[in-house]
Amino acid sequence: MAEPYEIKDDTGIVLEVLAADDEPQGDTATGEVDGTVSETGGQTPSDGEPTAAPVGEPTAAPEVETQAAPSIAPRSSWGARHPDGDLTLTGPAVEVFVHHSVTAQLSTDASIAAEAEQMRALESVGQSRFGTGISYNVVIFPSGRAYQGVSWNRRGTHTGGRNSTSRSICFAGNYETNTPTAAQISTAAAIYREGKDRWWTQGAPLRGHRDVSQTACPGRHLYARIDDIRTGSGSTPPSPGEPGGLVVDGFWGSSTTRRLQQELGTTVDGVVSSQSVYWRDRNPGLTTGWQWVSDADGSRVIAALQARIGMDPGQRDGKIGPQTIRALQGHLGTPVDGVISRESRAVMALQRRLNDGRV
Ligand SMILES: [Zn+2]
Repeated sequence: MAEPYEIKDDTGIVLEVLAADDEPQGDTATGEVDGTVSETGGQTPSDGEPTAAPVGEPTAAPEVETQAAPSIAPRSSWGARHPDGDLTLTGPAVEVFVHHSVTAQLSTDASIAAEAEQMRALESVGQSRFGTGISYNVVIFPSGRAYQGVSWNRRGTHTGGRNSTSRSICFAGNYETNTPTAAQISTAAAIYREGKDRWWTQGAPLRGHRDVSQTACPGRHLYARIDDIRTGSGSTPPSPGEPGGLVVDGFWGSSTTRRLQQELGTTVDGVVSSQSVYWRDRNPGLTTGWQWVSDADGSRVIAALQARIGMDPGQRDGKIGPQTIRALQGHLGTPVDGVISRESRAVMALQRRLNDGRV
């Protein structure tokens, strides 16, 4: 088993880490070495018309339009030369992770040839470290164009320990230091939406790699946009304090946290720090921006929320859990069960109140 591959910055921060799962290696697919396109590749749009570029035709990468079904250029379009992952996966993924590649930062008007070259460079990294070709499922460039990496139904090496149960959407470049383009956000949102009930389950959450691994990936500028990708809510972040800026969807991610922080007067960073990992999977409606740790200290925004909803001073520990959730549900007038589910009624009520400025 190869060791994880880490990309660090000058100060030693792990910007990205790629890792194979600790499971037996399976059948290595070699069928695409000759440039043929897998029938199970992810380039089929909703109307069933194939969009695969002609084999070996590098000018055939798609134009990307806002709101259109995503077009993903097939592996053959960039010249994949190495295996397509190491296992065929059955069933849809249960999580989708956003990554950044920390490779060259191309411009919005980069050529398709330049992007294809970057895809081959990424493939070389995964091949040299793990012997299974490119690590990510799809890679999106600043132009907004997307290219298929490891096929949707094949296992890659993107999210260590979860490669068999998740899929990956990677932004080419470094988004700790650069901001994603509107075209990239738009393409990612279209792909996330298109993949529901196809490549992943309808309720599969979209998360940042750093939510589950010791890495800054996908970088702070991209991490801040995950809610926008998930909701498809446009290419610009809502202005601080702007009424109606929150999408009422019942998922508590960093956008909701940011608005709550503004409302409660704590530091506005979209992060709920130091929460007990024990409650993470029990509350699937808590999505991005939650910092899950084994030894929780609590966060100021939760402590401020606990005060706002009338919990006793001795209970204001800054930690989310059944007691706080029950108190919040009681305060909001939604069913009291102590759990934040997907599309949670309590979170929707909270989001409506945040939009109205009356938590
Ligand atoms: Zn990553």
